[in-house]
Amino acid sequence: MHDDHGHGHPHHDLDASSPEIRVEALEDLLVEKGLADRARIDATIQRYEHDIGPMIGAELVAHAWTDPALASRLLADADDVVAELGIRGAEIQHIEVKANTPGVHNVVVCTLCSCYPWALLGLPPNWYKSPEYRARVVREPRAVLAEMGLELEPDTEVHIWDSSSETRFLVLPERPAGTDGWPVERLAELVTRDSMIGVARAADPAGE
Ligand code: FE
Repeated sequence: MHDDHGHGHPHHDLDASSPEIRVEALEDLLVEKGLADRARIDATIQRYEHDIGPMIGAELVAHAWTDPALASRLLADADDVVAELGIRGAEIQHIEVKANTPGVHNVVVCTLCSCYPWALLGLPPNWYKSPEYRARVVREPRAVLAEMGLELEPDTEVHIWDSSSETRFLVLPERPAGTDGWPVERLAELVTRDSMIGVARAADPAGE
């Protein structure tokens, strides 16, 4: 069933032991055999925790809010824009950007594991990897979103995008009202990680 989904990486969700324990054991073994350097592993984790995070996606969204031509290109061919801006890193070989509008709300999930655009959003949050989110957001998206604090209008269409190793998705949230004339840097601060997964709106400018 994983092959159908097109995943090229190992899955841990069918194993009884937790991924954390297995990863630690694997790391110990690689270090013991001289195949991995613990300092380098730590440096990579640090990089994804501090240098490569949702601020990269947030800046992209803020640019799109202020530049309609860029927004159109992003929706038509995000790979082209990402390459042009020099955004590099793991898990963004093919990106599609889906724009929220007053009538359409987009949500991203990976139903079979945790495919996620690392180079744009950093490390995935734990809830994104949970079996509960992966299963329920497809079956009852409105209920899940409401539990996460996002109430949608009854006539808003919800589109669910299932990530895979071939395609990663990024939601382009709606630009909040009251932000006319704001510079990109200030707008980017309103673009939360969750708003780019589609489980929240961009932050309220009044709450800044
Ligand atoms: Fe996956």
